[in-house]
Amino acid sequence: MSEAISKTFKEARKIVIKIGSNTLAKEDGTQNTEFMQNFARQCRNLIDLGKQVILVSSGAQVSGISITREWARKKDVHFRQALCAIGQVELMSQWRKAFSLQNLHIGQLLLTKDDFKNDHRSLNIRNTMFTLVDEGIVPIVNENDSVSIDEFSIGDNDNLSALSAILWSADLLILLSDIDGVYSDNPKTNPDARLIETVENIQNLRNSIKIGSTNSFGTGGIETKIQAAEKTTVYGIPLLLANGSTPDIIDGLLNGSAKGTLFLAQ
Ligand code: ADP
Repeated sequence: MSEAISKTFKEARKIVIKIGSNTLAKEDGTQNTEFMQNFARQCRNLIDLGKQVILVSSGAQVSGISITREWARKKDVHFRQALCAIGQVELMSQWRKAFSLQNLHIGQLLLTKDDFKNDHRSLNIRNTMFTLVDEGIVPIVNENDSVSIDEFSIGDNDNLSALSAILWSADLLILLSDIDGVYSDNPKTNPDARLIETVENIQNLRNSIKIGSTNSFGTGGIETKIQAAEKTTVYGIPLLLANGSTPDIIDGLLNGSAKGTLFLAQ
């Protein structure tokens, strides 16, 4: 039981949920549409409870590869960006199907680093987020990979979701990954790694754990999740890291039956 997680979740009204590529892809590399439909059902439940939700969805590359399979091995940056352009359409098409089964509309926001640096653009994004949510629509945010590369990009959706949560003045940021939370070491390589359930001081956490390498897409890893927590918690927004492959994870976090790592607000 995690009462702290359940309490934080119940108290939060404005919630940003980020879903990692590992959660959106099946082992054979195709899109996990069952997950998407189940997730949309859980979002409907949150909305019915009076909560507001913004989604940050990775997975454009995975979706692109599931369409143009022969591009899977092309590492050239132009191909990767083109793959994201193809995949983003497919990704949103699947999300649209999943949410329409719940009688919910979605809206797409593709953002870049510059959008957050420029006050005028940030204000426009913030206003769009507020308008969509007020009208009962679920905004789905992703990085605009086709225009942002390398030093111009945020680079990972953990940091993008943190910036989005701050911009929207969210009450809680939830990151869904393929692990239950932050461990003392990479649980995929060290079976003795211990789950850390609550983090009060991020610097102390950094000093006490081992951080493994990034995922197969070369982005993210646990490091960017900690960076996201560093960003949001100073703005008073707690961050919850949990396992997207646990069945009904959002319901489980809400009722306290699911595990995770809760980074407390500063
Ligand atoms: P996502 O695509 O969901 O954002 P990532 O693959 O980028 O997920 O990051 C999660 C991965 O980070 C885990 O699957 C795990 O292998 C790795 N990792 C490395 N070090 C740790 C650690 N100390 N605790 C938890 N996970 C870790």
